[in-house]
Amino acid sequence: MTTQTTGNAIGEIADYLKTLDKVAVTTHVGADGDAIGSSAALLALMRALGADAVFCHREEVPKYLRWMIPDAQRELPEGYDLLVVDTSREDRAGVTGEPRLNLDHHEDNPHYAQYNLVNARAAATAELIADLYAELDVPMEMEAAEAIYVGLRTDTGGFRFRNVSPRAHEMVADLLRAGVVPAVVDDRINRTGTIEQLKIVGASLDNAVRYGEAIITTVDNDDYKRTGATELDSKESIDHLRTVSGVDVVAHLREVEAGTKGSLRSETVDVAEIARRFGGGGHRLAAGYTVPMRPAEAREQLLDNLKGVVDLGGAR
Ligand code: AMP
Ligand code: MN
Ligand code: MN
Repeated sequence: MTTQTTGNAIGEIADYLKTLDKVAVTTHVGADGDAIGSSAALLALMRALGADAVFCHREEVPKYLRWMIPDAQRELPEGYDLLVVDTSREDRAGVTGEPRLNLDHHEDNPHYAQYNLVNARAAATAELIADLYAELDVPMEMEAAEAIYVGLRTDTGGFRFRNVSPRAHEMVADLLRAGVVPAVVDDRINRTGTIEQLKIVGASLDNAVRYGEAIITTVDNDDYKRTGATELDSKESIDHLRTVSGVDVVAHLREVEAGTKGSLRSETVDVAEIARRFGGGGHRLAAGYTVPMRPAEAREQLLDNLKGVVDLGGAR
């Protein structure tokens, strides 16, 4: 069983789930593979327990993940208990409502629901859903197994990041025994791109600037217009920034309606602490934030805050 969890005991959560008959599942805004994978697996678990379970989110499910959750409601329906997954703070949840359950793996999660299960050692929230299947002794159908696999795979960057544990691999072994075929899932989540996406990733890499041990890139509305891509399409370039030798912090700053969305990644620096200075948060080595200014200005703000944290090669 999971160790290092905070909040309620897993047995209490399992007992609570059995009492529910109408549930709405939601996850964080800007949903990723773990957000949607965990949601899909929890929906399947609740349905297996006999509940009426719907997914609610004010944003659309990203296209490459829609095979897991084809139908979403925009708001919390009347009379449904709200279950929130993979969401570090209540204000990041996809719908407004009173959270009954908070299942997460962000270490800064403040336990905002009536029932909380937070395991910062888990590589993905999907691990917690797998724990609940085991605790409740519910057989896992293929769709839930695939969804949990997606959560684990995407939140570990394809089993490469520092959050990978023996337990995560053991879980994957079980999922493969249950019939999950990694190549099939890979096709669905990684081979759905467009030429526009390639071009915005190219633009994002082209805009990257190295400052000693840091690399910062920005993309703005002009880049979206020129390439025909969306802001979200540019984000995957952050994984390429990480490949540069001698660099410890990488940042991707993209223009969004509210200003600039920043994504920070590191191998050693607590970037969640930096993101919190700007009202954001996340994991120690992968964090994000949104600030009300254009990317060029956000770059200066970030550089000021990286001063003394990493060697900026004389840039500050
Ligand atoms: P991202 O860079 O958007 O992929 O986010 C990396 C991590 O930081 C994820 O775990 C997010 O949930 C978290 N995160 C991103 N943006 C914010 C924010 N504005 N506030 C709190 N956490 C965030
Ligand atoms: Mn997530
Ligand atoms: Mn996650």
